[in-house]
Amino acid sequence: MNAQMMQMPLLVSSIMTHAARYHGDTEIVSQTVEGAVHRYTYAEASRRTQALANVLARLDIGPGDRVGTLAWNGFRHLELYYAVSGIGAVVHTLNPRLFSEQIAWIVNHARDTVVFFDLSFLSLVEAVAPQCPSVRHWIVMTDKAHMPADSSGKFLCYEDLMSAEPQHYDWPDLPETMASGLCYTSGTTGNPKGVLYSHRSTVLHALACIQPDVMNLSARDVVLPAVPMFHVNAWGLPYSALMVGAKLVLPGPNLDGASLHRLCDDEGVTLSAGVPTVWLGFRQHLQKIQSKPSTLKRVLVGGSACPPSLMQAFDDEYGVSILHLWGMTELSPVGTVNTLKLKHQDLPDAQRHDLLAKQGRPPFGIELKIVNDAGESLPTDGQAAGDLLVRGHWVLDRYYESDHSPLREGWFPTGDVANIDADGYLLITDRSKDIIKSGGEWISSIELENIAMSHPAIAEAAAIGVRHPKWDERPLIVAVKKPGADATREDILAHYAGKIAKWSVPDDVVFVDELPHTATGKLSKLQLRQKLSEYRLPDSR
Ligand code: ADP
Repeated sequence: MNAQMMQMPLLVSSIMTHAARYHGDTEIVSQTVEGAVHRYTYAEASRRTQALANVLARLDIGPGDRVGTLAWNGFRHLELYYAVSGIGAVVHTLNPRLFSEQIAWIVNHARDTVVFFDLSFLSLVEAVAPQCPSVRHWIVMTDKAHMPADSSGKFLCYEDLMSAEPQHYDWPDLPETMASGLCYTSGTTGNPKGVLYSHRSTVLHALACIQPDVMNLSARDVVLPAVPMFHVNAWGLPYSALMVGAKLVLPGPNLDGASLHRLCDDEGVTLSAGVPTVWLGFRQHLQKIQSKPSTLKRVLVGGSACPPSLMQAFDDEYGVSILHLWGMTELSPVGTVNTLKLKHQDLPDAQRHDLLAKQGRPPFGIELKIVNDAGESLPTDGQAAGDLLVRGHWVLDRYYESDHSPLREGWFPTGDVANIDADGYLLITDRSKDIIKSGGEWISSIELENIAMSHPAIAEAAAIGVRHPKWDERPLIVAVKKPGADATREDILAHYAGKIAKWSVPDDVVFVDELPHTATGKLSKLQLRQKLSEYRLPDSR
């Protein structure tokens, strides 16, 4: 028997319509690349998004077309998110931190029809454009006054196009399974792979994220995504913040500690989100000026493991809770977020900190399991570690333009190694390719890094396996000291005593001025291994 309830497709456009209708006077504040701070309301954003839909139609962009963006977090990028998906086209966020050859490869693979870009990427676009035959128009996301001088004929101007169009557009009723967005993984091994999100997966992901035990978003929040809108859709915040009518603060290109602190305090930000490196920089700035954030309450940290020392410092010094998040491009990206259960409320401090340092548990809509090499499920006892597999409503089924399914019996293999405890809390011990394999035992590089970073003199640390004649691999710590701090190799090694088994204590420590990061702000162990290819351990020199 069929039910007799309305069948309304879950559409991205409906999020903007809701925000404008019920939160019309809520602000969106953007730090622009042109320098000024831009402010408007959801009602205005909705009207301009409709004008942009008319612009897209005028440029002959229709359902299924891929529309590239090379842009920071800002109001025009937000308008593109909604207008492009709203008309049934696919918003394809490109990561401007990649090399120009990689960007050209991705644009060509996606066959983008137009690309919208921020002024700061002008020279990048000049380099990439001649290699991208599918792109009919390159559109500068700025107004006439800021258009580059010699651009006539080469580039179109966003605001010129907008001013010619009416601010009314009737969003079509699309099938909810239609593609709405496209995002490529950074491709540390092999070519980048495209993940094609649907309206349905995007809306369900946003609905899951706003829940109290996930991001706990509400109309009383002021949300600053310090994760770029070109990195897995800023973890969905441009959708979930509008869904609840939270004030949105978009930081543009400035993700350094000083800029973030200023913007947080000026705009009354209550919740932010970003990779650990951003928050390490934020804390270093606050330490330098001996200050605290005044309104910030919660920060979502993920993308790579958040050092427990950072969590504790935010809690003790600023009263700000860090919520540890694990996700992937293939998961839209949220897989787990760490929040406590009722029974954990009265845990002694040390146990509570240990629990909160894990990557958290999945919301409804995501299922996790860990398996051994034979593909058999391992117990969820918080001890057994295995390959992490996932399935759910916002998990990839297959990569864009690929005939081959990456799934294993309906589950997506994440490439991470993890354990899961009886309450469902996930602990990522490593990416399988970063695990240090020593004498048949596995050593978690994340655990070694967390211990190094809990030393007061260390700002950032990476653990990698280096060749060893007897043990196959042994761990090496590569560390950056805090400005003005001092520590020796012996100090750092002594810091491991009593914290982990003796055989997993690193063999050596190398100090460097800076560690290499990927285009999404994570430690690049690939580059680090290449850089240290000549390095020999003390006992094999
Ligand atoms: P890329 O593979 O392009 O870096 P993602 O940004 O999607 O793409 O990265 C996903 C990976 O990042 C995960 O598979 C995991 O290895 C790592 N990761 C994400 N969040 C965390 C976290 N909180 N702790 C440890 N690792 C994490």
